[in-house]
Amino acid sequence: MHSPTLLILAAILMGLMASMLLAAWRFNRQIAGFGAWTLSYFSGFLFCISLLLRPALPEIASVLAAQLCVFLMAYLSLAGTRAYIGLPALPKAYPLLGLAALLSVSTWFTLIQPDGGVRFAVSSLVIGSLFLLCARTIAQGKIHDYPARYLCATASGGHGLFLLLRPWLFALGSNGLFDEQQAIALSQFVIIESIVAIVLMAFAIVMLANERVTLELRSIADCDPLTGTFNRRSFLTLLDKGISNARRENSPLSVMLIDLDHFKKINDTWGHQTGDEALRHFVAVAETCIRHSDVIGRMGGEEFAIFLPHAGLNEAMAAANRLRLAVETQPVANGQNPIGLSASIGVADWLPGETAETALARADAAMYRAKRRGRNRVEPATAGQGATDDRQHSVNSLTTDLSLE
Ligand code: GH3
Ligand code: MG
Ligand code: MG
Repeated sequence: MHSPTLLILAAILMGLMASMLLAAWRFNRQIAGFGAWTLSYFSGFLFCISLLLRPALPEIASVLAAQLCVFLMAYLSLAGTRAYIGLPALPKAYPLLGLAALLSVSTWFTLIQPDGGVRFAVSSLVIGSLFLLCARTIAQGKIHDYPARYLCATASGGHGLFLLLRPWLFALGSNGLFDEQQAIALSQFVIIESIVAIVLMAFAIVMLANERVTLELRSIADCDPLTGTFNRRSFLTLLDKGISNARRENSPLSVMLIDLDHFKKINDTWGHQTGDEALRHFVAVAETCIRHSDVIGRMGGEEFAIFLPHAGLNEAMAAANRLRLAVETQPVANGQNPIGLSASIGVADWLPGETAETALARADAAMYRAKRRGRNRVEPATAGQGATDDRQHSVNSLTTDLSLE
């Protein structure tokens, strides 16, 4: 029923794709799922070989070999997809039971009640469902953030659907709807569809690997490795964007500059590692005090900044006071000796026409005032000219910092 030329082409493509995935896997061993996907393609290659060898083998051997290989191909594809997404492996009993059922049915309809049509329908149903499950599993997250996942979902979902439709098309054919030529064309189309799906899915898998590596690199470039917050550079970029939005929407925006008090003492008393733990603890506390749309960044050392879109000075002062209180009342767990923390916070509302740097510099000046006035307190920034010495000092130092980047 199958054209040998197309089958040979499918086998060559499967072999090539499997080798390509094997090579890509060697360089991406940290990407979960790649190994299973590679094995899935090797199973697909063996499936094509088993179809090519069909005339030379006893029927039952070739049928069982083909069903085993095609089941492994689809199941390993699902296993790879689940691993990639971070889902736990399915219990081993599931594939074993599925495979046992498929092989038993195939044996029955080969030896006891020979019927190639039923065998074909059953395997199409099982394999098609597995590919549809792959599509459902990989389609996670926003398409804008994860385009490769949706390419993969489209490729395996489309292939799965076609596999489910396949027996029905052949049934129509054997009921006399198609003439002989059309029936041959249909069987050739089945192989061509598989070839397209094979290539598209392998392409999608490589894109998935690329997507993961790109996102990891982006996260390394944008985030502070110790606390996981945005680093200074990406915080400033996001603040610039936030200010552009505020300008366009004519809405308020505020920034807080937070410096942990007497932090050096924590390091000196408990060691640098406990100091690191205290920084992570601060971020965890801060994240419970801010809204989803607020953005937190580590500006350096024990100094953090938060910007609050759509918040005016009063709202930001209230948030800063909540944060100050939360930091004060939630010490860092440290065995029998919890470590008390406190923070000095300066708050500035963005003034129309102001740049990110000047708004931050005013918040910084307010933070220095909070330090000067005894620490563990929140101070609002002053607007306009008539800067205090603190402010002038702080604007100068921040501008120097920014020009150093
Ligand atoms: P102040 O209340 O005036 O802010 O006093 P302070 O001790 O917090 O300020 P100072 O600038 O004198 O010291 C900051 C300390 O923060 C010194 C430095 O060792 C520590 N620090 C900066 N970055 C890190 C870090 O990544 N990990 C740890 N553990 N400590 C850090
Ligand atoms: Mg400090
Ligand atoms: Mg500091």
